[in-house]
Parts: sequence; C-alpha cells; structure tokens
Amino acid sequence: MSARDIIYPGATLGVLGSGQLGRMFALEARRMGYRVHTYSDAADTPTGHISDKEYTGSYDDLDAVRSFARGVEVVTFEFENVPSATAAAAAECAPVRPGGEVLHITQHRLREKTFLQKHGFPLPPFRLVTSLDLLEAGLAELGCPAVLKSAGWGYDGKGQVKITAPDQAAAAWESLGGQDAVLEAFVDFEREASVVAVRGADGSYTDFGLFENEHVNHILDVTLSPGRFSVAVVEQAQALAREIVEALNVVGVLCVELFVTRDGGLLVNELAPRPHNSGHVTLDQCETSQFEQQVRAICGLPLGSSRPLCPAVMVNLLGDLWSGGEPHWERACAVPGVKLHLYGKREARLGRKMGHLTAVARDVDTARARALEARKALTD
Ligand code: AMP
Repeated sequence: MSARDIIYPGATLGVLGSGQLGRMFALEARRMGYRVHTYSDAADTPTGHISDKEYTGSYDDLDAVRSFARGVEVVTFEFENVPSATAAAAAECAPVRPGGEVLHITQHRLREKTFLQKHGFPLPPFRLVTSLDLLEAGLAELGCPAVLKSAGWGYDGKGQVKITAPDQAAAAWESLGGQDAVLEAFVDFEREASVVAVRGADGSYTDFGLFENEHVNHILDVTLSPGRFSVAVVEQAQALAREIVEALNVVGVLCVELFVTRDGGLLVNELAPRPHNSGHVTLDQCETSQFEQQVRAICGLPLGSSRPLCPAVMVNLLGDLWSGGEPHWERACAVPGVKLHLYGKREARLGRKMGHLTAVARDVDTARARALEARKALTD
C-alpha cells in the first residue's frame, strides 16, 4: 500500500446504516482523528450521535446517496440490508469497502449459500423453495426437522420458521408470505461459534480466534472469547474464515457464523459483511478491536494486532431489561472487571439490542459468571 493510497486521519469516512455497529465504528474512527458521516432512513440514531454529520434519507433516493458519498473519502456499511443500487450509487462517488458485490451476495441467503457451495465451503444441506410443492419435495429429501428461511432480508431469526412435521409445510409457507425461501436441514449442533475476519486493502489478514456464542430466541445472548474449543477446531475455523474473505475479496470486516457439530466438524450458518455482535467483546479484550480494524482496513492502514489481552465475555442487553423501569446501572458497574456499553437508543422495546456488558477475568468461566451476575444485578 503506497502512502498515496492511504486515507489519512482528518479525512471523512462514510457509513451506510446508523445502528450500534456504526456507532462503535464512529467512536473508534473519531478517536483516530477521522470525521464520520452517516446515512440512513432514520434520524437521531446511535451512529448519528457520534457522527459529524447525520444524513436522513431513503436508501432508494440515489441522488441523496450520491451527494452523501461525494462528501466522504470512503464508504463502508454497518448493516447488510442496504439495496445493491444504493451501494452502486455510492461507488460512483467514493470507494465502497467491502465492495457492493460482497453486499449483494451476503444479503441474500440463496446467493450466499450458492457462493459457499460453489467454493466447496461446508454448510448444512439446503434447497431453494419458491412454491409449496417445492417445499414439500424439499422436506421429503432433507427430512424433519428443517428450517425454512426467507431468501432475503433476514437476521436474528426473523423470517424463519422451524418445521417439525411434513403436515406443517402449508402453514410454514404461508407464514413467510410466499416469498422465495431456503429450506435448510436442522443442525443438531453442539455449539454455535463465529470468526470475525479482517482483510486489509493489501490482502493482509487477521481474526480474533473462535468465539463461542449462546443464543436465546434466535438472538445472540452471550459471547465467550476465547471459545471453549480444541485447538484443531479453532484453527480449522480460522482457515475457513480466511478462505471465505479471500474468495469474496473483502476489504474490511466479515463475520463467519458457524455451527460446531458433535463430531467437531464446522458448518457455515451465515456471513455478515461487517463487524458483528459477537465481536463487541474485542473492544475490551484485544489490542485492536473489530471496529478499529474496520477503520484501518477501509483506510488502507496496516491492520493492528488482534491479540487478546485477557479472556472476556460479552452479554447483550435487550430492551426487555427496561420492562420494570430503569435498570440499576450502579449494580452492574460494581461487579469487578465489568464494562458498560449503551447505544443511546431512546426507546427500549422487547428484543431490541440496547447495549452490552463485557466482563474480563483471568479465565473465561469467571468472566462469564461475572458478566451474567452484572446483568442479573440490573433488574434484581
Ligand atoms: P440465522 O438468522 O440464520 O443466523 O439463525 C438464527 C439462529 O437460529 C441461529 O443462530 C441458530 O441458533 C438457529 N438456527 C438457524 N438455522 C438453523 C439450523 N439449520 N439448524 C439449527 N438451528 C438453526
């Protein structure tokens, strides 16, 4: 990377999307001396609070997207459900990293699975479903239970339904409104895991090892870093993540969500072409967080060391915690090794990600106990 190609501090970085991922990116970018502009269809947003300028407009208003992109040196995104045309319009005015093609593939389950299959990456058996007949045929082939997932715009278990018996096919098909879908064999996994992979503009690579993830109601609840896996599984996952970001030619951050099967095998669940909820743990754990790596990667700076300084565990704080009134923040902050992160969202709705807690400790089990203790103390 020649100095000419590096985007230096003082420049303005653009983020499409305005949630907590953009907020934490903006915090790191500003610490490093960059300015940040954000564009989304909302106002008064978690990213907007930290940005120099918050643009509010439709993702379909391509002229507005172009004028946003003209005001920045590089555009990145913090959620993948930005229409391809939006990324293409931005790319007319500034480099988009990762590129629009990465977004196009990873925002659509079928395209993503087809890509992974074509490159020989391991994934659960699946079938394309565009009619009830195809769903019934798919169930006959894959067996029950199986999971029907909408092909586009899904995350955190939204747009998906588990089918436990063939006679549930019609109801499942109707519940997705007849949109194109993917039927996936149900994986009797041992644990869920993720690798947050980072690739620099010069092809350099780093990741944070293999996180162990616990979900509740399809939403990430707890991340342990390091995950409690054998060295062989960790190395296999890291190699897989590296091959995936290289095959996609990612410049930036991409998370590979994985199922670890009972025999120690790995299956790719899905890809997220941006920092990931599981990677929040890196903010308090690692020499360089996933958000700083995103800044470095898109600006052409050398990637930082991802080395963990200590074991750490992250627990999510959902809006549900507010149902009995304001949580007791002082009680969580009193637990040793606990750090509070809140995203500045004004309205606490059930299931909404409002913030997270990280606990660091000498070992990951102690960190997990502290993080859970701190979260419990919020509402006790
Ligand atoms: P997704 O939105 O596809 O990441 O799914 C959300 C969560 O649903 C995953 O993290 C798993 O806990 C669960 N899940 C999704 N697909 C499957 C599957 N094929 N087999 C078992 N569990 C699944």
